[in-house]
Amino acid sequence: MKSEILITGISQLVTAEGFGPKHGRTMRELKIVERAAIAISAGVIVWTGKESEWKGETEAIVDACGRAVVPGLIDPHTHAVWAGDRLADFEARASGSTYEEILAAGGGIRSTIRATAAASQADLVALGKPRIDSLIASGATTIEVKSGYGFTPEAELAMLEAIQSLSADSPARLMPTLLIHIPPAIATERSSYMSRVCEELISEVARRNLATAVDIFVEKEAWQVAEAEELFRRAKHYGLSIKLHSDQFHCIGGLELGIDFGALSVDHLEASGPEQIAKMASSSTIATILPGVSLHLGIPSAPGRKH
Ligand SMILES: [Zn+2]
Repeated sequence: MKSEILITGISQLVTAEGFGPKHGRTMRELKIVERAAIAISAGVIVWTGKESEWKGETEAIVDACGRAVVPGLIDPHTHAVWAGDRLADFEARASGSTYEEILAAGGGIRSTIRATAAASQADLVALGKPRIDSLIASGATTIEVKSGYGFTPEAELAMLEAIQSLSADSPARLMPTLLIHIPPAIATERSSYMSRVCEELISEVARRNLATAVDIFVEKEAWQVAEAEELFRRAKHYGLSIKLHSDQFHCIGGLELGIDFGALSVDHLEASGPEQIAKMASSSTIATILPGVSLHLGIPSAPGRKH
């Protein structure tokens, strides 16, 4: 075997057994190799094992000087690009208002949408950079970053352009997602907004390679299952992957729709019950749970250890 780079001098290498993504309990089956080496060719790990067992040739050796090597962390759900703050929400929650009451009164996501719309692309990049950097400092090497505070197709494109600009300068791999977060506050604008998303925005995002996936928030106070289905059909037509925010407060069928469409992941799941958990467990869709949200909003935790 030939490699371009051989990393030697690894005191302990922690790695998953075998190839490909892991599900369920197999994710915990990690192997520890003492005094290990890693061979890399064309940016891909082609061999791992004990340093003494490497029999191939290599063009360059990198000495890890006795460090341990572990897999890079993947953060699959971030909203790293936005402007404004949620201090008023904290105050309202401390006075007893619920998330949905705050949203209905124009706070929550809607206040972030207003602040993000008022920010320039340079502002969004400057605000996003320290957030991305802090994730990298915590060990993340691949980071998903969503749009979703744009409110108009043009503003969503500006958010995705800001993510693209952050990606160009980042040592981490950023995976951009187009998020269709909440419907317009004015009910009559709802269907025309979704039509513009489906007919103009998704094709433009795909044409310019600005996102790899499309995400939607399915919830009583957000988008409904039929609207998500329309969006997913369009996303699939353009070869984009599918993700969802679902079952955060109510189970209205978002999780089931996502699985039927072969979603990469369904995220949140705080309100998921036994039926949803069983469906998720028998699918290849990833359950992404967000413990920080439960802590931040004071809502129940997702049943991550059920099944
Ligand atoms: Zn989210």
